[in-house]
Amino acid sequence: MKPLQLDGSSGGGQMLRTALSLAMVTGQPFRMTNIRGKRSRPGLMRQHLTCVKAACEISGGTADGAEIGSTELVFRAGKVRAGSYQFAIGTAGSTGLLFQTLLPALWQPDGPSTLRLEGGTHNPLAPPFDFLDRVFLPALKKAGVEAGLSLESAGFAPAGGGAITAIIHPCAKLAPLDLSTRPELTGSRIRVLTRHLPLSIAGRMLDAALELIPCKDAAVENCEPGPGAGVCCLVESEFGDLRELTSAFGEQGTSADKIGHRAAKLMQDFIGCGAPVGRCLADQLLLPMALAGDGRIVTMSPDAHVPTNISVIEKFLPVKFRVHDGERGTKVIEVTRD
Ligand code: ATP
Repeated sequence: MKPLQLDGSSGGGQMLRTALSLAMVTGQPFRMTNIRGKRSRPGLMRQHLTCVKAACEISGGTADGAEIGSTELVFRAGKVRAGSYQFAIGTAGSTGLLFQTLLPALWQPDGPSTLRLEGGTHNPLAPPFDFLDRVFLPALKKAGVEAGLSLESAGFAPAGGGAITAIIHPCAKLAPLDLSTRPELTGSRIRVLTRHLPLSIAGRMLDAALELIPCKDAAVENCEPGPGAGVCCLVESEFGDLRELTSAFGEQGTSADKIGHRAAKLMQDFIGCGAPVGRCLADQLLLPMALAGDGRIVTMSPDAHVPTNISVIEKFLPVKFRVHDGERGTKVIEVTRD
């Protein structure tokens, strides 16, 4: 089969990960040029390369151009096999993004699969473990996806060294998602995860978050010893059977209060917008919605991941997305078969 031609210059690693997932699900090979073309260090970084290699392994596929820094890749999937797989990113690259790349492929075969992924579990600019476990997988469950995640050990950037495990069950056919309305807020909780840092830092972070999102269920959790220090603030709110989780990560030169405030402000904005789907979840649901061939979500005004991800999905699948204005500044994203 002739490879689909894809230009990766308008987005980041997500365009590549979506293409890998869809190539494994559909059997359609692709050639991507200008991978992460506008990033300060373009081309494949360690976490992207691990996604490519893992995709080759679970699907018996081949990849040309699978090297660090490569800006062009040709990927051909074979047949995805259920199994027990282990992949180590080797840096603090996100295990969550690797999990999301492999998940749609591994719900195709007849039997269950397990994954053990090593790397970062709580990274800025990627879904933290808790987001996948508490928000992403429960949303996918509504479409019929049965998968479970456990955190073996936390891995913070830049040291990494964390691990997650996953079990993924077969899902013959996805149901369309309809996340159009948001039930009332039923509760919030805040966790500050910390390792190898004075507890006073985590305490200040928690207090700052509580100022914006007051709730009784709030705690500091000391992670078990591991490589590298780190701290992050996770704010979770529940709206009936829907959840959102916002996060912010400790960084050199930024006060603990600011980090706690940042995570809570993201939640405050989400609560205020009235949409059922948060900005990050929106771009992560596009692929399962397209595979179901039908669906509708209402989200906060989406970021650049949505149009770039849609552009890749529409090349692989006979679907059409429509993004239009909803109430109070929200956006409605609908997909139908073309
Ligand atoms: P690049 O380095 O090229 O930007 P990348 O591989 O790091 O690429 P992106 O293409 O930016 O990644 O994709 C990041 C993904 O992580 C997106 O799906 C985004 O929604 C998700 N994400 C980022 N931050 C969070 C967060 N705090 N919570 C949940 N998901 C997140």
